[in-house]
Amino acid sequence: MNALVAALVTWAVASWLCGTWLGHDAGWGLFSLGIIVTLLIWRRRLDRLARWVRDADAAPPHLKGIWADILTPVYRERRRNQRAIGQLKRQARGIVLAAEALPDGAITLDDDRRVAWCNQTASRHLGLNPVSDRGHSIFNIVRAPEFTRYARQSQWSGPLTLHLAQNGRTTTLLVQLAPYGLNHLLMVTRDVTQLENLETMRRDFVANVSHELRTPLTVLAGFVETLKEPSARAFTDNRRAHYLDLMNEQTDRMQAIVADLLTLSTLESSPPDDGAPVDMGRIATEALAQARVLSAGQHVFEERIDPDLKILGSAHELASAALNLLTNAVRYTPPGGTIRVAWGRAAGGGAYYSVHDTGIGIAAHHIPRLTERFYRVDRGRSRASGGTGLGLAITKHVAMRHDANLAIQSEPNVGSVFTLEFPATRLVAGEPDDSVMETPGKAPKI
Ligand code: ADP
Repeated sequence: MNALVAALVTWAVASWLCGTWLGHDAGWGLFSLGIIVTLLIWRRRLDRLARWVRDADAAPPHLKGIWADILTPVYRERRRNQRAIGQLKRQARGIVLAAEALPDGAITLDDDRRVAWCNQTASRHLGLNPVSDRGHSIFNIVRAPEFTRYARQSQWSGPLTLHLAQNGRTTTLLVQLAPYGLNHLLMVTRDVTQLENLETMRRDFVANVSHELRTPLTVLAGFVETLKEPSARAFTDNRRAHYLDLMNEQTDRMQAIVADLLTLSTLESSPPDDGAPVDMGRIATEALAQARVLSAGQHVFEERIDPDLKILGSAHELASAALNLLTNAVRYTPPGGTIRVAWGRAAGGGAYYSVHDTGIGIAAHHIPRLTERFYRVDRGRSRASGGTGLGLAITKHVAMRHDANLAIQSEPNVGSVFTLEFPATRLVAGEPDDSVMETPGKAPKI
């Protein structure tokens, strides 16, 4: 400011001196020229300033004097604001990225319940298009009466369980609404389909176990009642012994169920044991000996067992799986049938244990469900032969714990082949063996 005043005073003095020397008109002319030049310079500076004010990203104009005094604090404030805005933008972007990464779905709704934003998980859960569905009412997107009722409430104490059919499968979602800001809503969705399936399986399992145990218990209780009656004193020894045999059958059955349940529970809760080399040839031979006892000479047995081939795993578990498959073959093959056991190297580099029978066979639609707990093709036949309905579930578990696959091929009235296919990584390294055995074909060759 002082510089400007000093310049004007100097110019006025210079104009006055010029006026006294060259006349009044020349003095005034020079003075006016100075004022005009000053105004033009100010105008240019004002133009540069206006351009800078309009373009926030542009560098500030290089100005001096009073202009610099005005501009510097404005420029500093503007830099501070720009830094704060940049930081806020980064934070907002971080929040959006974090919301995108949420395993739960998140949707924001405006005061008219229209979609303002949603993350990828929510778009997957509800089949929402994050771009084209923005601004659309959530009630047009989630068309379930229970959701409409829930979302129209003014307060939400708990989540809503929603069953939605999408692409031919039903998903179960937990939906929770929470208000935020000015009448806006945050909608959180969580896919609980698997949890619900697990819960259903648990409920079914408890119901199945109860059902399986109730039948022998009822029979047992009936006999106990009968034997308690005063009239029981008159029973002959033979009759009494017969009743006791029948009672024994029921306790054996309950014991078998409980033993299999305990085996399953141990398999599920303990870490797999994959350290020790197991003599699978011996296990197969021993299982075969037990199967012969069970068969009591009613079947023809054939064996093709490689005695030198060992695998890494648990001898106890593998013995149980090997015996399960063989006892099933005996139980589901009518007298006169043939049962073949094989243990050897497979063409693919692994090893296989297979049990081939010429028994009653299984219709194709039952095969995928055979390893479910308590699943039986013929309930009566299984029970009559002492089955618990858990044998194949146990075998499947043992297979999984040995990285093996349980393959089932069967044809009704022709026979079945149950094969445990072990990967090469499970074989105990030894002398390379040329005696690769032919793995069972697609359909049982009987
Ligand atoms: P179970 O104790 O009833 O035999 P499993 O789990 O061992 O239970 O087998 C499940 C069902 O699979 C059996 O009830 C039977 O219907 C069928 N199954 C198993 N093995 C054979 C087989 N070798 N031949 C025909 N059906 C079989």
